[in-house]
Amino acid sequence: MQALKTVVITGANKGIGFGILENLIQKQSYKVIMACRSLDLAQKSRTQLIEKYNLSQDRIDIIELDISSSDSIDKFIQEFTTRFHQADILINNAAVAVKSDDFNFEIVQYTFTPNFYGTVELTEKFIPLLVQNGKIITIGSSVGNTKILESDDLVKRFKNPNITRDDVFKLADEFQEHVKNNTYAQNGWPSWGYGISKLLINTYVKTTASNADVKQKNLQVYTCCPGWVKTDMAAEGAVLTIEQGALTPVYLVELQFEVNPAYQGQFFYLQKVQEL
Ligand code: NDP
Repeated sequence: MQALKTVVITGANKGIGFGILENLIQKQSYKVIMACRSLDLAQKSRTQLIEKYNLSQDRIDIIELDISSSDSIDKFIQEFTTRFHQADILINNAAVAVKSDDFNFEIVQYTFTPNFYGTVELTEKFIPLLVQNGKIITIGSSVGNTKILESDDLVKRFKNPNITRDDVFKLADEFQEHVKNNTYAQNGWPSWGYGISKLLINTYVKTTASNADVKQKNLQVYTCCPGWVKTDMAAEGAVLTIEQGALTPVYLVELQFEVNPAYQGQFFYLQKVQEL
């Protein structure tokens, strides 16, 4: 029998993360580590699946992780290293969105901390724990598109094919500065922290294709949109089931374990590469 592939999914206790977990666990070739901020919620979801599919206990494990806290990320890395040593795939799924149209600096910070900064921090701290030819799959969003920008200069900067990690962080700083000074509109930014957090993370993933460690390890790096899925996060009117929302991330999990230059660092929607 082939060894099981180890997949880490952040925020796997509910929504799309749970959908990806349920899909993978039925395939018999994966072991999943749920990286969740609430051990209670994670344990409930784990028990539900173990009973539903009559799984052996070791097919799903849990480690506490709050991606908004550097301390928690460090503890997670430590515990993962001790218990599992290495993983085949990291799926960055956890994120937040505020429900209202309210927009201010505090909301931007609340959203950026997990959706951009925490996701980047976990990604970079987890690279040493990935096997050679492993994968990093990030759940971005189709709303993280340059179409939400109202400045040609910003569009040009985000679309620059040679954009670097530092450039992406500079854009994140600029947006926050312009929100703080209430000059964001005149600088071509929308009043939408979640949209910009997703544009930043989609763009960051592109830059990871040229990260030295990613190249050295021959890792595949992707970002994707699950579609508009009926979860606690989605606004009313979402159309897809959680099972359907899991399909594009699972498609990326199942891509051959070999870097395809046409796919590397790209954004996928409906299982196809799309422009941002
Ligand atoms: P949900 O709100 O249903 O689930 C979000 C998950 O992320 C929960 O498990 C939540 O944990 C976890 N989470 C949030 N913050 C943290 C944190 N700081 N540390 C650890 N875990 C955290 O959202 P969805 O399932 O809809 O979203 C999943 C991903 O899909 C997100 O990246 C989202 O942006 C993206 N997406 C969703 C779309 C949709 O239509 N639903 C469309 C496009 C993209 P807890 O239960 O403890 O709150």
